[in-house]
Amino acid sequence: MILTFRIKHGTDFSKELALARKVAEIAIVTRSRSTADVRHIGLKSAISNQILRKYSRKSIMKVKSVPLTVPGQSIKVNKESRCIVIPCLGLSLNYEFRNDFGKVNQIEIDSEYACVSVSIAEPPQINVWGAIGVDRNTTKHCVVIACPRTGKVWKLGKSAEHIHKKYSRLRRRYQRLRKYKKLKQVSRRERDIVKNIDHRISKKIVEIAKENSCMIRMENLTGIRKNKGHSRSFRYSLNSWSFYQQQTFADYKARLQGVQVSYDEPALTSQLCSRCGLIGIRSGKEFKCPSCGHVDHADSNASFNIALCRGAGRLHADRDACNGSTDTPREAIARMTPTSEPHAP
Ligand SMILES: [Zn+2]
Repeated sequence: MILTFRIKHGTDFSKELALARKVAEIAIVTRSRSTADVRHIGLKSAISNQILRKYSRKSIMKVKSVPLTVPGQSIKVNKESRCIVIPCLGLSLNYEFRNDFGKVNQIEIDSEYACVSVSIAEPPQINVWGAIGVDRNTTKHCVVIACPRTGKVWKLGKSAEHIHKKYSRLRRRYQRLRKYKKLKQVSRRERDIVKNIDHRISKKIVEIAKENSCMIRMENLTGIRKNKGHSRSFRYSLNSWSFYQQQTFADYKARLQGVQVSYDEPALTSQLCSRCGLIGIRSGKEFKCPSCGHVDHADSNASFNIALCRGAGRLHADRDACNGSTDTPREAIARMTPTSEPHAP
């Protein structure tokens, strides 16, 4: 699989970035792939070649920001001194991220950061005894995990709702006052906080799966969004909350640990009784089953349903749903965290 790490390069590349933009603009007009056509611009041919390859594609109509794209063969890596050298730009970068990568595929450089894409060998999948179910919510804990094999429940991300509310309020206020600089600042701050939470939660999900020798079951998000039966405020928070980011993080973290992830269509996960499989009554965060008398927290009931695959199975183990740890992990994430994967492996 491919992971991308960001490193602040601390070098002024404004001249080269302007040239890269020119190359892209030419490529979009001529659809040419030949470096001879852009040699007069003066950008190193290894880089202009990469830009031509991207922007000569017919599907690209507009030039946005054009990073300096350095191909793997123009990059030298010294793993012992943890140093990456790009001779054609006279740039050397020290990295702190994992050292077990196979090779550097490419580096994209913008005015501030170098995004280093590396290949990492995926470990074999672990043997599993069952699945944990991950239920995602927009209110209270944003993730509730259940393990039917042990009956244990974990509730994570309690602060998420509070942060979301606080920052939407701030954003609305600055919008009203037309303080756009402040608005941008606030939005960026929120994005960073949410990203941090998502990293911690996804890490914890994978840890729980591995410790319990389970695979991960989650609901397919696209299915949730299509569902129109939600109130307006629910839809708002669903679309603006970072479920997708969290899922991407959990996905690659799981793959790095050999943990399998499966996505299922959400069907009645909040309405079925996880113990007997019949329809129960949900009011707020409480779930009651008139058929078997089962009473549970609505979110943990839902996460058991997801773990058991849409309530198709039956839950036999006796359990106390509220015994699970409600702690979110406290470890801070590394300064250089992998961003999303730009390429399919
Ligand atoms: Zn029941």
